[in-house]
Amino acid sequence: MDTQERKQEPLERRETMRVELESYSHNEQLARVVVAAYMTRLNPTVDETEDVKTAVSEAVTNAIIHGYQESGETLILRVSSVGGELQVEVEDHGVGIPDVEQARQPLYTTSTEGERSGMGFTFMETFMDQVEVRSAPGSGTLVVMKKKIGA
Ligand code: ATP
Ligand code: MG
Repeated sequence: MDTQERKQEPLERRETMRVELESYSHNEQLARVVVAAYMTRLNPTVDETEDVKTAVSEAVTNAIIHGYQESGETLILRVSSVGGELQVEVEDHGVGIPDVEQARQPLYTTSTEGERSGMGFTFMETFMDQVEVRSAPGSGTLVVMKKKIGA
């Protein structure tokens, strides 16, 4: 690469890692570890890593159990960063959410067997700086979470 080309590069390039996971419960643990490994490049504190792992765990669990009902279909995990800000996207092409605003309310759950507390989205919001949810019934759900690391 000559000097001319190098000058045209953006100062900070967004590097994205894309991982496909089958929607089985044990892959939630794998997703946590994969994101933690990626974010070491941002020199996170132990607390920051734990916060992100918790949020990822909630989003991936939702995709697996609600989106796909543990059918083994593929969910997509995208992890990227630019300027010290980590971005994690969790995408499923499952059942989707009819009312996102309602789903994000603390304690709201569609689970009827009492094993869910309805706190997943609340945890994501607590542990990340920003959480965006795009969803449509029958199409699936995309959760985009951002957190400044080492702020
Ligand atoms: P908890 O996370 O505390 O175990 P929960 O999963 O029910 O309980 P949230 O994670 O806050 O609570 O999600 C709220 C509701 O939103 C869920 O009960 C479910 O109906 C819906 N939901 C969340 N994520 C998805 C998804 N990826 N696909 C379909 N529905 C979803
Ligand atoms: Mg949940």
